[in-house]
Amino acid sequence: MNSVPPGHGDPDLSNSGESARSLNFVEEEVVADTNSGRFGGRVQTRFPPEPNGYLHIGHAKSICLNFGLARKYHGKCNLRFDDTNPAKEESEYVYQGLLLVRWLGFSWDGMYFASDYFQQLYDWAELLVHKGLAFVCDLTADQMRTYRGTLTEPGKDSPFRQRSITENLDLLRRMRAGEFPDGSRTLRAKIDMASPNLNLRDPVLYRILRAHHHRTGDAWCIYPMYDYAHGQSDSLEGITHSICTLEFEDHRPLYDWFLRALEIDAPRQIEFARLNLTHTVLSKRRLLRLVHEKVMCGWDDPRMPTLVGLRRRGYTPEAIREFCDRIGVAKFNGTIDLGLLDFCQREDLNRRALRVMAVLRPLKIVLTNYPPEQEEWLEAINNPEDLSAGVRQVPFARELWIDQDDFMEDPPKKFFRLSPGGEVRLRYGYIIRCDNVIKDPTTGVIQELHCTYDPESRSGMANAGRKVKGTIHWVSAGHSISAEVRLYDKLFLQENPDEGLGEGEDFLSRLNPQSLEVLPVCHLEPSLAAAAPGVPYQFERLGYFCLDAKDSRPDALVFNRTVTLRDTWAKIVQKMGDA
Ligand code: ATP
Ligand code: MG
Repeated sequence: MNSVPPGHGDPDLSNSGESARSLNFVEEEVVADTNSGRFGGRVQTRFPPEPNGYLHIGHAKSICLNFGLARKYHGKCNLRFDDTNPAKEESEYVYQGLLLVRWLGFSWDGMYFASDYFQQLYDWAELLVHKGLAFVCDLTADQMRTYRGTLTEPGKDSPFRQRSITENLDLLRRMRAGEFPDGSRTLRAKIDMASPNLNLRDPVLYRILRAHHHRTGDAWCIYPMYDYAHGQSDSLEGITHSICTLEFEDHRPLYDWFLRALEIDAPRQIEFARLNLTHTVLSKRRLLRLVHEKVMCGWDDPRMPTLVGLRRRGYTPEAIREFCDRIGVAKFNGTIDLGLLDFCQREDLNRRALRVMAVLRPLKIVLTNYPPEQEEWLEAINNPEDLSAGVRQVPFARELWIDQDDFMEDPPKKFFRLSPGGEVRLRYGYIIRCDNVIKDPTTGVIQELHCTYDPESRSGMANAGRKVKGTIHWVSAGHSISAEVRLYDKLFLQENPDEGLGEGEDFLSRLNPQSLEVLPVCHLEPSLAAAAPGVPYQFERLGYFCLDAKDSRPDALVFNRTVTLRDTWAKIVQKMGDA
């Protein structure tokens, strides 16, 4: 169960590891239904995004659950765009939704739109009127709120509730024909204004709204409400299990009521906890603000929890699926630590990312005993986790770049990198000693290091066994290519950016000012000139990186850091596996 928000100690991982690989409760229900022969043993699910925003990691959980169940139980899963609210919907959102479901590794059996069913839904509305189960109401939105009552007080019947079937039918048809202004009338179900469940207090089925719809254009001026459209769409498609998030639990009696009233096939609604992640926000409203207020450079800003953002940053479908699998499916809302996503990402990239060398904060080294015109090509292993990835040659020469972090003029004990008089091994290459620190005479800033190399110490040579404590990465200055590298960190400093906001305080004030660090001049080994978007690399000792698919140009490369190598989670997850 992922019901415990992580504190500052160990994150709650009771839902991860092997135990989570047993059946989750939704799956248990589905299995029980297939065993009992309910729905003829069929399993059919759907993923129903509303095309009013970009899919995010929370949607991925729903996608993995719905498509995963269908795959596992030889059933079907539809993609359905729930496009009942024309004011906020756009085709662009539909296309990106299609691409991202594919990107995550799933394909749908059928692709539908709630708007495909507008005529059928309307015909059913007339049927409900005929059955005396729906009426046209002239109350304004404000009046309706007053009549609705509260959690502790029953509502009052609308004065229009007793209209005759004939009058209701006439008014509904005239609503449909465009005779009344927007918002002047609604069609409502006739259920129970005293029901303790507010959703059953004569809910609205149709509203009058002259808005251009992304698919039906101006054909309709009345639109069905989500609650009225959803279950009937499920039923029309032959859905067996309509899986949705917990906030719809109170809507289930209404979902069932419509299907019963219309006497059509009734799928079973099952609710699960939505995904919340630490240090980010997953509500469309919040994500919209990040984009519209230009806090982020777009929906695909690599700091966004959207799937387009994650993809651009270098997160892989494999890691996201693994993450969704590990967090499991719970009945109670909780928050998952962002660290778990990064853990899954590292595990995936560790297996398959090509290792390369790159220097992000360059410091020049001159090997004073290395002949100026000489160069060598040293053999480097592409991926120690996968020897089939082979080897490559990296150029070595008199002038090199190393990272500033790998040199200290005045090192503490146990600093095993380079320092004056000290030795270090260059990865795949030689042992070097730092002889001289060259500084700007006026500012005192270090300009370069003069070192000597031991020609007998090359990796793989007979006496290469001479041991030094540290090995650092490097690139040849004359052969390297330059690039901009973007480092990312948590979007928000607080685990829950919405928690404990003071009066007039905004969640945006909690953005991490260091969520993006741009390193404009980095030096990379020349093999990276062939980097392509979507191909992950490990910059040795620095983390996992990928080419930025949007801003990178052949003559001005840009790389994103996906995740660091730092990994406190491996131990925690390991411990759980042992337990
Ligand atoms: P928001 O409240 O941010 O607008 P939503 O739930 O309205 O999100 P939809 O596009 O309607 O977004 O969601 C499509 C499907 O994805 C629904 O079945 C919904 O329950 C599911 N979903 C959305 N957000 C999450 C989440 N954070 N965790 C799990 N499932 C989610
Ligand atoms: Mg929604």
